[in-house]
Amino acid sequence: MPPAGTLLCATGLRKTYGSTAALDGADFSIHPGEVVAVMGPSGSGKSTLLHCLAGIVPPDSGTVTYAGRELSAMNDAERSALRRGEFGFVFQFGQLVPELSCVENVALPLRLTGVKRKQAERTALDWMARLEVAELGDKRPGEVSGGQGQRVAVARALVTGPRVLFADEPTGALDSLNGELVMQLLTEAARSANAAVVLVTHEARVAAYSDREIVVRDGRSRDMERAI
Ligand code: ADP
Repeated sequence: MPPAGTLLCATGLRKTYGSTAALDGADFSIHPGEVVAVMGPSGSGKSTLLHCLAGIVPPDSGTVTYAGRELSAMNDAERSALRRGEFGFVFQFGQLVPELSCVENVALPLRLTGVKRKQAERTALDWMARLEVAELGDKRPGEVSGGQGQRVAVARALVTGPRVLFADEPTGALDSLNGELVMQLLTEAARSANAAVVLVTHEARVAAYSDREIVVRDGRSRDMERAI
């Protein structure tokens, strides 16, 4: 059983690709509204851990529990519904739809749940304002900078009011100034929405925005006290 008050909890996760043990007994837990950084060198298993936590990749063994429900006990449709309704995602490259304007991109998750266009775009603009990119509404992703695109992607990830925001190297393609701004706005917006954040990064200055750090090495995780 996960500890009381835990929103998302994993124990003993193992995942092997061929002869590579991507995860070798990793544990993880996060409370509602908490920002946790998953740190570790390249190839240590951080992304695999994130994919298992989000129900994208099934672990070979071990359990992931979200709000008291084991992900492995859900069917595909239930796991998809969980990802659509409860989780938001930001990746290294925004992965915005190039043919849509920025506001249409942010509104898209709401449109997919049946919200009417006007309402969806109003809510989208609200989130874009929080990420300080409201003025980019009519622009296509190809017409905005990398940092602006990432802020649009964060708005899109938060527009449905997820309980957990998964961010995999969200500043990995940005210079340090834009990276700092994205992290500042991402954590502010997530905290104001009481969304927990699972932040995968190999950069200490990015992890500094978290409440707690988990270090992954060779597929094993370790909880770190904040060294302040
Ligand atoms: P990190 O995010 O820390 O860079 P990953 O979780 O991406 O680490 O990868 C951990 C290990 O698992 C690496 O050795 C990687 O090559 C391997 N791996 C990850 N995903 C796959 C996959 N889909 N197929 C084969 N090997 C993989």
